[in-house]
Amino acid sequence: MIENQLLARDIRDPATLNAMRIVPRHEFVPTKMQAYAYADHPLSIGMGQTISQPYIVAYMTQILELKNYHRVLEVGTGSGYQAAILGEIVDSVYTIEIVEALAFTAKNRLSELGYDNINVKSGDGYLGWPDKGPFDAIIVTAGAEEVPQPLLEQLKEGGRMIIPVGPHNGVRQLLLITNKSGKFRTKEVMAVRFVPLTRKNN
Ligand code: SAH
Repeated sequence: MIENQLLARDIRDPATLNAMRIVPRHEFVPTKMQAYAYADHPLSIGMGQTISQPYIVAYMTQILELKNYHRVLEVGTGSGYQAAILGEIVDSVYTIEIVEALAFTAKNRLSELGYDNINVKSGDGYLGWPDKGPFDAIIVTAGAEEVPQPLLEQLKEGGRMIIPVGPHNGVRQLLLITNKSGKFRTKEVMAVRFVPLTRKNN
């Protein structure tokens, strides 16, 4: 996976590569999918949700330019795999999952694997986690139709956010948003498909 999917493409950040080497991806997928855990594609994790392709996880991690003292927010915990990758690199991770059963499973899995710097809660990540912010970096791993305003408000000055934005069920653009002294700059970095970001009331 590291050689053929990451190094062979454009993943160069040592911290990202190290985390991708260390985290046991097979622990985050259902037993019947374990044989495919390291394959070059996304995997179904049940409840209609997916765990992103390893390359996309690495790409979104690398682009955040994480430091070991950072505090990071993730929206869309899913299996907890992306959170574990972040947890290997930064000081603390706050991750929100809207499907309660997935949040529960991810929380137990992460604590069994010893990730005591990762905080999981069930709720609507569109709203962010205001009492734990602002964050050095924000990663949204579900496809949004627009950039949630609460997340912009919780991004530190100098902070970076990566989020897939585009029409419902269509191809979305991964947007890299940077907060330069209160001014937000947005750059489209890649076309991607993601399961939708949903809200509690729909
Ligand atoms: N990062 C995950 C994969 C995410 S799949 C991993 O590494 O496994 C997208 C996840 O976002 C799904 O689990 C979905 O339930 C969740 N999600 C969708 N809308 C959400 C919202 N508003 N708040 C929090 N989580 C949400």
